[in-house]
Amino acid sequence: MEKRFIYADNAATTAVSEEVLAAMLPYFREGYGNASSIYKLGRDAQRAVEDARDKVAKALGADPREIFFTSCGSEADNWAIKGTAELMAKKGKKHIITSVFEHHAVLHTTQYLEKQGFEVTYVPINDKGIIDPEDIRKAIREDTALVTIMYANNEIGTIQPIDEIAAICREKGVLFHTDAVQAVGHVDIDVHRQGIDMLSLSGHKIHAQKGIGVLYVRKGIALPNLIHGGGQERGRRAGTENVPAIVGLGVAIESATRNIAEKNAKITPLRNKLIDGILKLPYTRLNGDRDKRLAGNLNISIEGIEGESLLLMLDMNGICASSGSACTSGSLDPSHVLLALGLKHEVAHGSMRLSIEENITEADVDYILEVVPKVVGRLREMSPVWEKMMKGEKYE
Ligand code: PLP
Repeated sequence: MEKRFIYADNAATTAVSEEVLAAMLPYFREGYGNASSIYKLGRDAQRAVEDARDKVAKALGADPREIFFTSCGSEADNWAIKGTAELMAKKGKKHIITSVFEHHAVLHTTQYLEKQGFEVTYVPINDKGIIDPEDIRKAIREDTALVTIMYANNEIGTIQPIDEIAAICREKGVLFHTDAVQAVGHVDIDVHRQGIDMLSLSGHKIHAQKGIGVLYVRKGIALPNLIHGGGQERGRRAGTENVPAIVGLGVAIESATRNIAEKNAKITPLRNKLIDGILKLPYTRLNGDRDKRLAGNLNISIEGIEGESLLLMLDMNGICASSGSACTSGSLDPSHVLLALGLKHEVAHGSMRLSIEENITEADVDYILEVVPKVVGRLREMSPVWEKMMKGEKYE
C-alpha cells in the first residue's frame, strides 16, 4: 500500500483556493489603497469591498446593507449575542436560549453573559444530534431576548431544523441568530426566506483565508456597534478594512454556494462508503443522524482506543483527521457534543471526525479504509481497556 496524503479535516480549516488567492493578490501591492481614501486607489479598494459585500449578500439571500465584515466567525457570534443582550436588556429582556452542543464561540459567550446576570436555557439534542423545535417553543418566555442555534454542528455535522426554529421565533417575536460557520457552502441558505435575523460565517471554512468572517444582521435590528472608531462598516465595526481578505471571501462564498447539490451528490456516496467501511469494525458507532448531516462529515466512536493516539497514527499514514476530545486545547475533557449525545466518557474519548470535500477520490477512500482498521487493530492490541472489554471485565 503506497502512502498517500489525505486532508480529511476541512471542518477545521480549508486551503485558500487558487481563484481566491488570485483575486486577493492585487490588493496587497498595486491596489493597497485605504478604502476610506478619496483618490482612485482608495476608491478602487472601496469598490472591491462593496463588490465582495454584494457577493456575500447574494449568496445568503440578504441585502448588501445587512452584511458586516468581521475578523472571524467567533467575532460574529460574540457580536450577535452580546450585542443583542445589551440591546434587549434595556427592554428588561435578559433570557437567552441556546443549545448544549454549540461551538465554544457561542457557549463561552452565553456563560459570560450568565455572569453578567442573564439567564440562559440550554436546550438538549436527541440521541441523533438534532434539536426539537418544540423545545425552543417551550423555553421561550416573556423576557427572552434571543434564540441562538447553530445551523450545522462542527463535530458531528448534524443539520438543525432552522426553518422551523426561525418560524417559532418569528411567531413569538424573539430574535433568532444562527452560527452557520459549518453550514455555508454545504446547504442552501436564504436568510430572508428562512426568517433568520442574524447569521455568522467564517471565511477559512470555505477556502478564503483565516481571520475573516461575516455577521448578517437583518435590516431594522439596532445591534449596538462592536468597535467604536471610524465610519467603516457604516460605523458599526470600525477599523480599516482588510481588503484582500474581504475580496477573497467574496470570491470564496460565490464559489462555495454555486453547485451545492452537485457537490453533495458527489461527496455523499463516498462519505457513506467510509461510514459503512469503518462501522464494519466491532464496537463502533456513528455519531449523529446518518442523513440529516453535512455531506462531508462523519464522526465515529471506536471503543477501546484513545482518539489522540488514533489521530497520531493516522497522521503517520498521511491522513489528517480530528478527534472528539478537546485534548489539543489543553483539556482532557471529552467533547461536550459527544457527551450531549449521551455517550459515556470513555466512548467519547475514542472518537474520530473526518470532514471531506469533493476533491476526495475513490482511491483516497479505499486508502482510508485500509489504514483505519490496521491502526485500530494495533491500538486495541496495546489497549488495557480493550483487553478488559474482551474479557468481559468492568472498565472505566
Ligand atoms: N462556529 C463554528 C460552528 C465553528 O466550527 C467555528 C470554527 O471552528 C467557529 C464558530 C469559529 O470560527 P472562527 O475560527 O472563524 O473564529
